[in-house]
Amino acid sequence: MLRIGNGQNTRVFNEPWIPDGDSFTLLPRLCNLDDNANVSCLLDETRRWRADLIRQSFTEDEAKAIFSLPHRGRNQDDRWMWLLTPNGCFTVKSAYHALHSKNHPPPNVNAHGKVWKSIWKLNIPPSTKVFLWRTVKTTLPTCTTLAKRALDVDKKCFICNIEEESCMHTLVGCESLNKFWQLTNLMGMNLGQEELSFLDWLDDAFTKWSPKEAETFALAAHRVWFRRNQARIDGKVETLDHVWDGVLNMWQSMNTKALNNSSDHSSSDPVSDSQVRWQPPDWRNLKINVDASRRDGECRLGCVIRNYIGRCLVVLIKRVEGMAPIDHLEALAILEGMKLSQTMTCTSVIVESDARRVINLVKTGNTDATYLGLLRAANKSGFDGVLVFWDEWLVYFQHSLVA
Ligand SMILES: [Zn+2]
Repeated sequence: MLRIGNGQNTRVFNEPWIPDGDSFTLLPRLCNLDDNANVSCLLDETRRWRADLIRQSFTEDEAKAIFSLPHRGRNQDDRWMWLLTPNGCFTVKSAYHALHSKNHPPPNVNAHGKVWKSIWKLNIPPSTKVFLWRTVKTTLPTCTTLAKRALDVDKKCFICNIEEESCMHTLVGCESLNKFWQLTNLMGMNLGQEELSFLDWLDDAFTKWSPKEAETFALAAHRVWFRRNQARIDGKVETLDHVWDGVLNMWQSMNTKALNNSSDHSSSDPVSDSQVRWQPPDWRNLKINVDASRRDGECRLGCVIRNYIGRCLVVLIKRVEGMAPIDHLEALAILEGMKLSQTMTCTSVIVESDARRVINLVKTGNTDATYLGLLRAANKSGFDGVLVFWDEWLVYFQHSLVA
């Protein structure tokens, strides 16, 4: 592992310097740090951690691990440290023990970074990006994954009832999908390489496909997973022809919307017809509707996050202690919604609220003392990241009568 001194020779992502986690590395993600940024950009001029930037860019655990690094030696160069001895110096004995206890190779960190980049570049709905990302991180709840987490489930694929249901199997390898993947004309779908991890397989497949083909695969795989879940819940297995029709429809609607997209965000008339009825967002975005209320001495705020087909992804209702002015509550509801969508790794959102004053204020970018005060207070109470991300976010605020 690398011991951080001045941070100038160590990259933030894909280099082992985090004193926690499996690979001691951080994976590139959507944040305001370049993939090739050095650790020195996380330090201020006194070589202390830039806490705000770190909290915005990393998870709580990652930030904690970074803050736990010793401040001592910050004016020295970064240097390698041997982790298996208490003093950080290499010994043959410790290396010998490590080699013998290690029976599996380290995770393919470079492939992770590469595949991650390819996924985020695709023009597909955010929920499909998150789905694909979960497949390569093997956090998709397939039967094998659940069994690995000590849950009492049958590992067998319940569609073919032959093989164990891994990510690779349920999305690509299952024999029952052969005809379906033939319909897509995608290369590499008939290999039956069940022993490959989905990450390695997708890494390789991305090199063979054009961006449009990769997008087709993403949409189709997401639909296949949806079909599998439906089958699991109510026992009905959707026909693959129907699944493919769904993919084609989606494809068509995405491409027509892409053509019309330039006019989508230009309407600023707060009472135009389109805003009297709730409209789903464009497929690239999520829409957050927020509202706040003060009733019977109690303040509440709520937000709903929906996707392009209007499907509700998250609902949050929260009681706020004490009495606050309604505009403050509305602003707080917006912050909560943005924070929520951030946890869903989606930073391309449309925020809709009926609080015209708040929306207008945010739109003008005016850092009115009252709201700045609120946002600062929110920052202290754990809403870090949202405010400073403000300009980096693709947030479109709109006033609406139906929020
Ligand atoms: Zn199967």
